[in-house]
Amino acid sequence: MEKEKLVIIGSGPAGYTAAIYAARANLNPVMFLGFPSGGQLTTTTDVENFPGFPEGISGPTLVEHFHKQAARFGTKMIYEDVIKVDFSSHPYKITTAEREVLADAVIISTGAAAKRLDIPGANEGELWQKGVTACAVCDGAMPIFRNKDLYVIGGGDSAIEEATFLTKFGKKVYLVHRRDELRASKIMQDRALNHPKIEILWNSAVIKVEGEKVVQNVTIQNLQTNEVSKREAGGLFFAVGHTPNTNFLKGQIDLYDTGYIKVEPGTTRTNKSLVYACGDAMDHTYRQAITAAGTGCMAAIDAERELSARGLAD
Ligand code: NDP
Repeated sequence: MEKEKLVIIGSGPAGYTAAIYAARANLNPVMFLGFPSGGQLTTTTDVENFPGFPEGISGPTLVEHFHKQAARFGTKMIYEDVIKVDFSSHPYKITTAEREVLADAVIISTGAAAKRLDIPGANEGELWQKGVTACAVCDGAMPIFRNKDLYVIGGGDSAIEEATFLTKFGKKVYLVHRRDELRASKIMQDRALNHPKIEILWNSAVIKVEGEKVVQNVTIQNLQTNEVSKREAGGLFFAVGHTPNTNFLKGQIDLYDTGYIKVEPGTTRTNKSLVYACGDAMDHTYRQAITAAGTGCMAAIDAERELSARGLAD
């Protein structure tokens, strides 16, 4: 079985940044890109908040740049999903459907997936990405949403953050929440409750989305009275939480109940030495491409230091 100094699992901004830094530190990183590779950026349209691209850049193109940069410094890329890890003895064992490799150090950057709801009309092949999205911060500034009534589903901090963000573009933003009480923090609640362009539809659910080429209507059901109303809409945004892609790590490293990886505050160190976590798999607060890239850099530096200290870096 081949032994590597450093294996990186996952290929979003966190994984690629870790690879760039690790490759430049001569750690000869091997990266399992996963399938499909590239992470959440590959399903976004324009990225306008990643510094360095004043005109914006498409998500897939940004990932392509990351990939080329990581490859340029010698990262070995493997297009396979890691299905199992064994951190019970060192060197650690990483398993895909095709191979097993041993690694002195492992960086986990498997990201998270925004949860979506199975609403008629909102799925792939219907209006998904045609006015239905799961990331207002990524997609909200698109022209199709300008001066339209926009609907956000959820009652947590994300939902309020997204609704507030969307007030810059939409005519009015409706927050559709299934209960009569928000889960969001008090300060965020106040923001939503006091905002002239946000209206909360309590005890409500979106039960249908319709439109010719893009979203034109949503149907809302009041869950207490069962009353149904069809309304004009320019967009529907899911803000019902994220699921980190960490199932394969259960029992191997410490995870929160929500599945996010626990790290020592201010570092990327997990409870296993020489195992690091970065990006959305460990960050449930910021979840931006640039913060993922930042923690990817931290993971590579943390790994390089610990490998060197143990005489494993050469
Ligand atoms: P949360 O899990 O906090 O909230 C998810 C929301 O979606 C809840 O209101 C939930 O309703 C609703 N929901 C879940 N499933 C469904 C469903 N099937 N149908 C309808 N509604 C549903 O996720 P967030 O992404 O909002 O937040 C995650 C974490 O990130 C939190 O710790 C949050 O504090 C943090 N965060 C912090 C921010 C900040 O401080 N600026 C910004 C964004 C996130 P219900 O309440 O009824 O369960």
